Amino acid sequence: MDKPKPQVFYEIHKDIPREGPGDNESTRQAFSMLSELSDSPHILEIGCGPGMQTIELAQMTNGLITALDNQKRFLDELEKRAKVAHVEEKIKTVEGSMFALPFSEKSFDLIWAEGAIYIIGFREGLIYWKSFLKENGYIAVTHISWLKDNIPDEPKKFWAEGYPAIATVEKNLEIVEQCGYKNIGHFALPASAWWNDYYTPLEARLKMLREKYKDDKESLDRINQTQREIDLYKNYSDYYGYVFYLMQKAS
Ligand code: SAH
Repeated sequence: MDKPKPQVFYEIHKDIPREGPGDNESTRQAFSMLSELSDSPHILEIGCGPGMQTIELAQMTNGLITALDNQKRFLDELEKRAKVAHVEEKIKTVEGSMFALPFSEKSFDLIWAEGAIYIIGFREGLIYWKSFLKENGYIAVTHISWLKDNIPDEPKKFWAEGYPAIATVEKNLEIVEQCGYKNIGHFALPASAWWNDYYTPLEARLKMLREKYKDDKESLDRINQTQREIDLYKNYSDYYGYVFYLMQKAS
């Protein structure tokens, strides 16, 4: 399930502001749509990474956030950032897997996951994680989605290999209902949420690593693969994007 990755992967994804598309404004907008959330909710954040959105969430709630990731280095970074932002008492980090959550059933008012549910799968995550929600609990996730119906061959082929279950927004909204939730709202993240804190710093990093690994084919392949992902978005951002899906447990 979690394949070992070459060293260069860790260097590509080290000390960048985020580990996936997103921005604080979208985090705030999504949070404000959860109108029945209690004043001090217990929030489980899955795949928190270095935690830009965790800090933003902590600043909007009086509740507690349990922030889970399977990479200790990200949790360490999040803890550092939380201290700087003076929200460390609201955040508890847990090293663990989204496939085997180390929590009791019905313990959370809200499960939050930005750019992470694709790892378990949209449908699979919504089904498995539901048992950890209290009655009427919420899930807020961002997920890669087709934004149009007629997708050109290049992005179609890329995503057929990268995430074959990619679906249109309408289809994902159907999956939400099939999994026993009520759709509360959804919106596409702006293209700037891909660039400012993610692809722009990532691209600068790739440039530096391409020089460092110029004689190492395996690492160069990995670097080029990430560059291809960025180039694809440059050309086809009208066709796919990240969509925030907000839902409430219904059954
Ligand atoms: N939410 C963050 C990170 C998204 S990247 C952001 O938007 O910046 C996906 C995150 O999921 C990474 O931090 C990665 O370490 C974590 N992850 C990968 N596999 C996981 C697993 N099996 N269980 C828990 N977390 C996992």
